[in-house]
Amino acid sequence: MLFKDINIIDENFRFKAHQYVATEGDKIAYIGEGMPADPDRYGEVYEGDGKLLMSALYNAHAHAPMVLLRGYAENLPLQAWLSEKCWPFEDKITPEDNYWGMLLACAELVRYGGVSFSDMYFATDKRAEAVIDSGLKANLCEGFIAREDKSFYDMPLYEAYEEFVRKLHGAANGRILIDYNLHAEYTTFPQACSDVIRVAAEKGLRLQVHVSETRSEVQECRERHNGLSPVAYFASLGLFEVPTTAAHCVWVDDDDIAILRDYDVFVAYNPASNMKLGSGFAPIPKLLDAGVSVCLGTDGMASNNNHNMFQDMYLMGLLSKGSTLDPAVITPEQVLAAATRNGALSQGREDCGLLREGMKADLCVVDISGPSWTPMTDPLYNLLYAGDGSDVVMTLSDGIVVYRDGSWPTIDIERAQAEVSARTARILTELSES
Ligand SMILES: [Zn+2]
Repeated sequence: MLFKDINIIDENFRFKAHQYVATEGDKIAYIGEGMPADPDRYGEVYEGDGKLLMSALYNAHAHAPMVLLRGYAENLPLQAWLSEKCWPFEDKITPEDNYWGMLLACAELVRYGGVSFSDMYFATDKRAEAVIDSGLKANLCEGFIAREDKSFYDMPLYEAYEEFVRKLHGAANGRILIDYNLHAEYTTFPQACSDVIRVAAEKGLRLQVHVSETRSEVQECRERHNGLSPVAYFASLGLFEVPTTAAHCVWVDDDDIAILRDYDVFVAYNPASNMKLGSGFAPIPKLLDAGVSVCLGTDGMASNNNHNMFQDMYLMGLLSKGSTLDPAVITPEQVLAAATRNGALSQGREDCGLLREGMKADLCVVDISGPSWTPMTDPLYNLLYAGDGSDVVMTLSDGIVVYRDGSWPTIDIERAQAEVSARTARILTELSES
């Protein structure tokens, strides 16, 4: 595709008008102020008037099939939300339910300009199928919760994981990557954690984990582990020797932040989820100041309740300012980096997340002709604080159009919605009968 005379957010997060961008195969082949040589080779010409082309967004923390639970577990604190509502519901979810939940989540993500998930859930093979079918990308990990204190090598999940890695890691032109997982300190035991960390390190794979989401989680961890915070505890097990995305980090102190920085841990910030569950406000400006790589996630749909990452960008900016009483504490560039480049890097996708020649053609086009975008005095502030995800009119993943003007070329959207509605209804009936 050749984007003609279009506005862009460039690789340094600067707004530039009247640019030409071409994609060829799965890559960005050309960016410049004039027509590329041999323009006919790029296929469709897209008229850029009134449009903004930017990197697509990378969702660094999700439990995508939880679209099935959307609106189901409301007004509860984290522990009751998990144990009384989410876990009993999830016991009823079949692999086929996971497929349809994942597919609908993919449709929702691309509708708002996203192309990739770091996704922690179950039925990894079925989720991979949905991601492959939809043309998106995902770093999938199979949720690891240990009910008893024994070695990971003696658990069925160990073998299952060997199979996931063998079959799926790097599948679909690298769109599917397999990460290892520890759900959280409070849902695992030290021995199994050490085993999982060792396996991930041996295979050179990444790991996703929940860390310091609530104040009580940190207090209880300190009681269990000689005063260690969750960050210090996981560091003592060697976790951060493995490239890690630590979701939440709401209740981290200065010592924790130093560890996260020293080990280059990616912090996946989930502002909507943290507020919805009453977990608190992560110290994002402090983390950024310390040099920690912050990326952005939606978390699951029982605690957000949407995959519109524009909302999370908006919240990241405003909450950083409001919680520090400092309106100058965060820049639009820092927020955009969290949603794009840092998210891609947290997934080990070095060739993604920037509008630069040679990078993967993961792009979204935003309609900037509407009233919220006028006047265009400062386009980046319009993008974060005036525009919205619903202004996205096209999304490309690896150069393939996966959303355009209200249609999903790779997804049967009516079927996906019908399947999810029917499957949630079936589970709710099963729960009411049990
Ligand atoms: Zn989560």
